[in-house]
Amino acid sequence: MSDCVFCKIVAGEIPSERVYEDDRVVVFRDINPKACVHLLLVPREHIAGLGQLGAEHDALMAHCMRLLPQLARDAGLTSGFRTIINTGREAGQEVFHLHIHLLGGDGLPGF
Ligand code: AMP
Ligand code: ZN
Repeated sequence: MSDCVFCKIVAGEIPSERVYEDDRVVVFRDINPKACVHLLLVPREHIAGLGQLGAEHDALMAHCMRLLPQLARDAGLTSGFRTIINTGREAGQEVFHLHIHLLGGDGLPGF
């Protein structure tokens, strides 16, 4: 998607502070962090949101789920972390390329 900011980050056309990457996902720091640790786990493939997932993405999503605790551990989050997926404008989704927020540490707001 040529006008998608996360596709541009995945392609390296927009800079980001990457903390992890593999053949399926890229993980980088949120530019406007809501907590001490605020990472975005982004599939390399452009998928607009949860509503656009198909069975062909099952392995990708399982990979994402299993990566989250590893990323939290690597970020030093030993006492817990929060994950958020905003879906749709009303829920606050601003970037329509599927991503999982990983938040933790000092400044984590109440839910
Ligand atoms: P959402 O509201 O769930 O769509 O989340 C989008 C997130 O992307 C927000 O927390 C933004 O701060 C973050 N964001 C937008 N542009 C960038 C960027 N260029 N680099 C890092 N994070 C970004
Ligand atoms: Zn995209």
